[in-house]
Amino acid sequence: MTDLERLDCYLKHKGIVYFSAKEICTLRKISKVVVPPEAWWPRIIPTLQLADELRVHLGFPLFVGNGYRPADYNKAVKGSKTSQHIFFRALDLDLPKKMRSVENQETLYEETCKLFLERGVNLKMGMGLYRPWRGTRVHIDTGHKRRYWKAKYVKPLLNSLR
Ligand SMILES: [Zn+2]
Repeated sequence: MTDLERLDCYLKHKGIVYFSAKEICTLRKISKVVVPPEAWWPRIIPTLQLADELRVHLGFPLFVGNGYRPADYNKAVKGSKTSQHIFFRALDLDLPKKMRSVENQETLYEETCKLFLERGVNLKMGMGLYRPWRGTRVHIDTGHKRRYWKAKYVKPLLNSLR
């Protein structure tokens, strides 16, 4: 069995439904799959559980734009030095191309914000909503620090949902 297959089994064993080892370990810019050290595998589980939950709330598919990013790759793609992608704690989730309407985008951001309000403290969740700077993508991570960025945009949205 390859490491990738073993990671896939591990994810299934942990109850992850909608996301595969391959998609969270693919370095898209160089079309390569890199599996992080086994000792790190538990780190991604709470983030994947959030992603699964988000997927259920939305009722439509999400795909992983970025999952694990080894430090050298993260540097090459100009990721932040403290990016939780390096530590296998983060996912960038995006709408499939055909689903990229303003309405679906708003639903994605709202549902992500709701999870942040409900679970952010317990999970030490990080959240990035990239509209309108970087398309329909959302970033989520867990186990590091509760925080969000793009505050000017995110704060009013969070307040409207409280
Ligand atoms: Zn990210």
